[in-house]
Amino acid sequence: MSDTVRTRFAPSPTGSMHIGNAHTALFNWLFARQNGGTVVLRIEDTDELRSTPEALDVIYGGLKWLGIDWDEGPDIGGPYGPYIQSERLSQYQEKVDELLAAGKAYRCYCTPEEVEQRREIMRARGLPPKYDGKCEALDEQEGAALAAEGRQHCVRLKMKRTGHTVIEDVIQGQVTYENHLCGDPVILKQSGFPTYHLAVVVDDCAMQITHIIRGDGHLPNTQIHLQLQEALGIPHPVYAHLPMILGEDRSKLSKRHGAVSVMDYKELGYLPEAMFNFLALLGWSPGDEQEILSHEEILQRFSLEACNKAASVFDLKKAEWMNGEYMKAMAPEELTERLLPWLVDAGLFEADPSDARLRWLVQVVALMQERAKLLSTYVSWARYFFTDDYEYDNRARSKWLSRPETAEVLDRLADEFEGLATWDVDSIEAAIRALAEQMQVSAGKIIHPCRAAATGTTIGPSLFHLLELLQQSDVISRLRRTADLTRQGKLAPEDSDEHDQ
Ligand code: GLU
Repeated sequence: MSDTVRTRFAPSPTGSMHIGNAHTALFNWLFARQNGGTVVLRIEDTDELRSTPEALDVIYGGLKWLGIDWDEGPDIGGPYGPYIQSERLSQYQEKVDELLAAGKAYRCYCTPEEVEQRREIMRARGLPPKYDGKCEALDEQEGAALAAEGRQHCVRLKMKRTGHTVIEDVIQGQVTYENHLCGDPVILKQSGFPTYHLAVVVDDCAMQITHIIRGDGHLPNTQIHLQLQEALGIPHPVYAHLPMILGEDRSKLSKRHGAVSVMDYKELGYLPEAMFNFLALLGWSPGDEQEILSHEEILQRFSLEACNKAASVFDLKKAEWMNGEYMKAMAPEELTERLLPWLVDAGLFEADPSDARLRWLVQVVALMQERAKLLSTYVSWARYFFTDDYEYDNRARSKWLSRPETAEVLDRLADEFEGLATWDVDSIEAAIRALAEQMQVSAGKIIHPCRAAATGTTIGPSLFHLLELLQQSDVISRLRRTADLTRQGKLAPEDSDEHDQ
């Protein structure tokens, strides 16, 4: 086996990259990078789920978005290729022939239906429903006779019948399986394709993988892999099985918990560096309270030994909070750059803005930076900066805009604003305070309806600052338009509150 660390990420190309896959990939990457090792990307497509170029692109895209790179793989090649299992069939066949010749595997002519029927009987008798070894004792002649009947065969590995198989796992500790409970697994299917067990063991050896880091759902498979390695006379790599990721109700993370594919999180407006940080803290902790960690800090502090055995819970609220923290900490110019494609896609901003427009956008972004948790929230929350076509939410309607007296406040404020020779935070504030004095009301009685009218909502950043970033004439016409709608009784709360923030 290689002297230097070699890990692999071995997804099956199913068309999407589940959070669990990304998590496994990340931990393999961290461990390899931390040890100056090599990351191999191998595509496991032996489940007759044919690898399509699209499925591969989804895997590449998800990994790249997260900032996980690899040193060998189908797209870049490497010394142990090909890196797609369906292109390695002859290697598996060779090992099967070797095992058959040594009497460590045998041809099984039972049909799947026959196997299932016998399993049913074992279940009914309270026995472990494993393959009963019926074909193990067939001699060549008997095999040939069954083949002459037109029966197909698969190949099964002869497992040990007594004793224990012990897995020494870096994360799970010592895990022991009783050998008599495990039936002889199929290693080569009737179709001539290897099963996962054979392909994974042959490839991990051929590709000189030193550390197998994968989800703990594969622990029971590992007893088979250890026996297969023994039968083939090849070394055991180090195993580290990561704890499962659960949804908030502590059931296995699935679609009903929300988005489960990595790219869904991109679409939802997550930053890849926040997602990287969030995934790193699923099943691992740096040992103190620190939760925001850069790539470098994670790389420095990560250790397989410090990973938890217990399942971790995918806490969406925490993911959102973490993303918000990353957004807050970012330079407004950088955040603007990340946001621009979102605004362009939403039709709110031009794709090739002038420097002046970009500077303005940076100010808008900076003003909202404390509040937005996702890139996408900017598109909804900051809409009024970019267009007059915004909705009035129900809170704005019920608290201010459905009240007839608000129309007068808005009109009088529009008059005040019309008289302003300069349009900045100070002049805006002075105009609002002056009107409050004239009307003998508190400034809040002007500020709140003004915000409701000019932005359609009751919450947001400092009103004076946000108005300054809008055109004076636009603000005035928004106030007058809203005053008219209020007078006409058109701003009563709506049944649905989906526009509320
Ligand atoms: N293709 C397997 C999976 O996606 C990989 C398992 C392994 O890492 O051995 O679960």
